[in-house]
Amino acid sequence: MVEVKNLVKRYGDTLAVDDVSFTAETGEILGFLGPNGAGKSTTMNIITGYISSSSGTVTIDGCEILDDPEGAKSKIGYLPEIPPLYIDMTVRKYLEFMFSLKRVTLPKREHIDEVCAVTKIKDVQNRIIKHLSKGYRQRVGLAQALLGNPPVIILDEPTVGLDPKQIIEMRNLIKGLGKKHTVILSSHVLSEVQAICDRVIIINRGKLVADSSTSSLSQNLSRSNDMTLRVVGAPTSVLSALRAVEGVYKVDKGQKTGDNCCEYHVYSERDKDTSKAIFYAMAKNNTPIVMMRGNELSLEEAFLRVTKSEPHIADKSERGGKG
Ligand code: ADP
Ligand code: MG
Repeated sequence: MVEVKNLVKRYGDTLAVDDVSFTAETGEILGFLGPNGAGKSTTMNIITGYISSSSGTVTIDGCEILDDPEGAKSKIGYLPEIPPLYIDMTVRKYLEFMFSLKRVTLPKREHIDEVCAVTKIKDVQNRIIKHLSKGYRQRVGLAQALLGNPPVIILDEPTVGLDPKQIIEMRNLIKGLGKKHTVILSSHVLSEVQAICDRVIIINRGKLVADSSTSSLSQNLSRSNDMTLRVVGAPTSVLSALRAVEGVYKVDKGQKTGDNCCEYHVYSERDKDTSKAIFYAMAKNNTPIVMMRGNELSLEEAFLRVTKSEPHIADKSERGGKG
């Protein structure tokens, strides 16, 4: 279990992390979502003991990172944004080297074999790292994080720069890890977090702006009642009848789906359930509805809403070149 309390990190005038608190429970995959520059890497570097915080505490499985840095670090496997690979070594030699560096006490051969099996890099064990694809290198980085079987795995943007096939492989690996470990992974890609994580926290400009399960986050914010309808009848007639329904503020005509049948996207005011009124309006108009579907808000839209409603935070200079 990871507990982060009131974490603050300043770089001069920049407040990179602004009073962030959250916990990750055992066996949970927690997504740490936010745009570039939000403070994700800074937070992860503090949790893993790479850099110190300006204030606040981090506890890993009962070990406070400041009181017992060795103890806390031994419970964490970390895959930083740029994996710390020695690219002139073979995969096997590198893992053996990291094994010693981390002073892992498990049986060396068996343990490295196991880690290679889990991350599916057995076939490339004797290859030199610099000759591997980005996808394989990332898996070697993950293997390194798994050495010593730490209960907590922290992954900073683990799929950045991978191609779609490699992304799917990496996602599956991470989901598998979630069964045994507490996993915290950062991403600026919403679909990523939606696909892998049980819970998501959203950080923007150093501040936490949301903390919830991935599905309830989109549900909480999905009160916009956006719908897609398929209606038989002349589009001009359908459009004007739909626009006349109370609570509907916008109707777009979609694609034609058959003879005299068309799709319509209907947007209603928040908290207004217009579906029944639409049904009766179409019946009265003699233009029958043959399909009606509510459109749930994607996390992407949810995210925009959450971050947009964020008030004034002092502007910070962008350092750029990161991501
Ligand atoms: P993310 O990982 O979410 O993209 P970072 O944690 O890398 O964000 O950065 C958060 C903020 O802190 C950014 O404004 C960045 O410019 C700033 N920052 C990060 N590292 C440093 C540093 N070493 N010195 C000064 N500013 C930094
Ligand atoms: Mg980052």
